[in-house]
Amino acid sequence: MRPTLAALLLVVAGPATAEPKVVTDIAPVHSLVAAVMGELGQPDVLLDAAADPHHITLRPSQARALAGADAVFWIGPALTPWLAKSLASRPETIALTEFPGTALITGHDDHGDSDHGPFDPHAWLDPANAVLWLRVIGETLGRIDPENAAAYAANAQKAAADLQALSAELAAELAPLTGNRYLVAHDAYAYFAGHFGLNLSEAISDSDAEAASAARLAELRDSLAAQPVTCAFHEPQQSPAGLETLLAGTDTPQATLDPLGSALAPGPALYPDLLRAMAGSIAHCAD
Ligand SMILES: [Zn+2]
Repeated sequence: MRPTLAALLLVVAGPATAEPKVVTDIAPVHSLVAAVMGELGQPDVLLDAAADPHHITLRPSQARALAGADAVFWIGPALTPWLAKSLASRPETIALTEFPGTALITGHDDHGDSDHGPFDPHAWLDPANAVLWLRVIGETLGRIDPENAAAYAANAQKAAADLQALSAELAAELAPLTGNRYLVAHDAYAYFAGHFGLNLSEAISDSDAEAASAARLAELRDSLAAQPVTCAFHEPQQSPAGLETLLAGTDTPQATLDPLGSALAPGPALYPDLLRAMAGSIAHCAD
């Protein structure tokens, strides 16, 4: 039997020049990795955008994608403890929050129990962390695929410079809002707030996104009555029930903050677009 054209092409292309198989956890990390890979390949993402990373289990197809990966980039066990077991013993597994220099904020667990890590896991919402991680991603890919190391480094550098410029632009847009208080669905915004000098610390749920207790809702109701917030933010991944109960009968403006970019197209532009969308939502919520 003659070999088919496709089979011949496979032999010619060969596995030696195959792009590295890279798996990521959430859409923002996928976006940073996609920016570094550029034309050299496309990473996979484990969590579809609508999923809440705090509460999910791995499907068999996702476990298989992980098993075949050359590299895995993920936020770390504080965000997705359920993923830690599947990643133990993999050679190129980079928990980005464990990379030295990453700015981490200690979780302020002052209302209710939680079993998440010692720090707040939403570290991708500080653009300075993303800038650092782009370099880590570039170096890791360069190690796995040395032939293209210079291209990964150049892509990482370009993406980091673009992100720094965007970050300065958003800081100017948000500067007039630093005196306001906002209510958020879950305690995910300390990094974004810290970077841009905002107050987003009134949260219905803790940073592990467990449903708020009745005691917590009562405490918040008192706090809001004493000192109203400029706006309250829903999240696509969280139930609106707590926020709606809390705001019933008030005229507090409501808008959406999407910390995972679930409404955005996946790819290199998702992460900068996510920052832009969050800044825009905060800047215009009370218009
Ligand atoms: Zn979260």
